[in-house]
Amino acid sequence: MALRDILILPDKRLRQVSQPVKKVDAGIRALVEDMFETMYEAPGIGLAAIQVGTPKRVVTMDLAKKDEPKSPQVFINPEVVWTSEEKATYEEGCLSIPEYYGDVERPARVKVKYLDLEGKSHELEASGLLATCLQHEIDHLNGVLFIDHLSKLKRDRVLKKFTKAAKRASETA
Ligand SMILES: [Zn+2]
Repeated sequence: MALRDILILPDKRLRQVSQPVKKVDAGIRALVEDMFETMYEAPGIGLAAIQVGTPKRVVTMDLAKKDEPKSPQVFINPEVVWTSEEKATYEEGCLSIPEYYGDVERPARVKVKYLDLEGKSHELEASGLLATCLQHEIDHLNGVLFIDHLSKLKRDRVLKKFTKAAKRASETA
């Protein structure tokens, strides 16, 4: 296992559309292990492979609370196949946009099709935090960030802040 660097806004790779996994093999399982290690270390509740620079449709998640046992979940080639009319708003954050949070409205319930680590197909109906998190991570696979769901004013402001910070970091490097 290896800890991987998390790409930070405005890294262009975050805008890439990730490729479907053709075969769930040892390489994918190694990627998933790295992603869990990186996600737990951050710490975060969800991670898409592109956030560690690998443009494959793989998502790791663990929504267990601090005092609960770990509950790792893997979604390979996840796809939203149904969304509810009803909406829900959650304050979202993202490991690629550290220390920034914003309210995002999304469908309250979704049905998601995905493969597990054995390559077996599943369908899951999700609500609450799981529904939000799945939509947030699937957005990543399509090069979409949660700030894209905010007003242009807010998005421009956060983009500017992170662009400045990246510039400062490269100047002092
Ligand atoms: Zn994110």
